Amino acid sequence: MKFSDIIGNEKAINQIRHIVDSDHIPHALLLHGDPGIPKLALARATAQYIHCTNRTDGDSCGHCPSCLQHQSLNHGDTFFSFPVTGKGENTTSDMFIAEWRKFITDSPIENYEYWLTLLKNENAQPLIYAAESNAILRKMSLSSFTAKYKILIMWLPEKMNEPCANKLLKLIEEPDPDSIFILVSNSAKDILPTIFSRTQRIELMRPSVEQIAQYFSSTLATDYDQALVAAAAADANVTQALQNLEASSETKAFHEQFVRLMRLAYMRDLKSLKAWSELIADYKREKSRRFLAYCARMVRENFIYNLHVPQLNYLTAEEQQFSSRFAPFINETNVQQMVAEFSSAANDIQRNANAKIVLFDLAVKITILIKK
Ligand SMILES: [Zn+2]
Repeated sequence: MKFSDIIGNEKAINQIRHIVDSDHIPHALLLHGDPGIPKLALARATAQYIHCTNRTDGDSCGHCPSCLQHQSLNHGDTFFSFPVTGKGENTTSDMFIAEWRKFITDSPIENYEYWLTLLKNENAQPLIYAAESNAILRKMSLSSFTAKYKILIMWLPEKMNEPCANKLLKLIEEPDPDSIFILVSNSAKDILPTIFSRTQRIELMRPSVEQIAQYFSSTLATDYDQALVAAAAADANVTQALQNLEASSETKAFHEQFVRLMRLAYMRDLKSLKAWSELIADYKREKSRRFLAYCARMVRENFIYNLHVPQLNYLTAEEQQFSSRFAPFINETNVQQMVAEFSSAANDIQRNANAKIVLFDLAVKITILIKK
């Protein structure tokens, strides 16, 4: 993991570069920010930068033996601690190292929900137990393999239970000069205050919508505009943006059905609208709700499209192509009522009304509203 792989957060990266380059690395560094901001990746990039033997242009080289070990998660002087579930006070992170490797390989943006699924215990509250602090003590007191510094990256220190936190505090209070703790927190206010106060803190911020879109389009080879829509709808929460993107194949199908509804409504083709409402009625209740919310959003987006301020519009290329012809049909007279009809249909379906009747009724109302 290199700094160049991180989404946004240039200011934090510059701060880290500066403290490493000037060899003023604190014994305990805390990277914190809300859960939608990838932070673990930056902790890993920081460790790789510290250990790289050939730093180039303010980043780790990616090629030296140390970088290669970091990239394959096999660096002998880098350890990970993280919350786990299940086996009581004696549970340590090492018992879940296979799951952990899968987690950081599959989910470089650290989706906590995904971690819970890997722990196969989705209802439990994972913790960092007392035994973990003994394991940390043991690892950090080993003489380092090759590097000057031994680094422990702890993900979610706020999940340490009290015995663990107290032991770790001792380690942080009387540090070995060659050990560095990098703590990565979703909720710094929940870290034991005595530990929190001994850290040098760097707060990470949500990247811009454009940075997220750029990241997804380059790492996942997704369409840039589609990624932009996903990021904007997630309010730049990166984890949520990725989930939105994954849902976008559904969005594509929704778009087709939205277009079909509007075309048939414009042609007043009631027979086909009946067939349309029966098809949508086959969706499960939650899916119908998402579809109707999508339709309401499309109506609003098309209204905004008429204002010709592209920065205000979040549409995929396909949606935009349709809007270029369709938007004039949405105007001051019908926009609000049309949005209201979609929400009211969603509410009726939520309340168990007959979906076929609700959707056909909706379709008929749209045929009237579209001519307004
Ligand atoms: Zn290197």
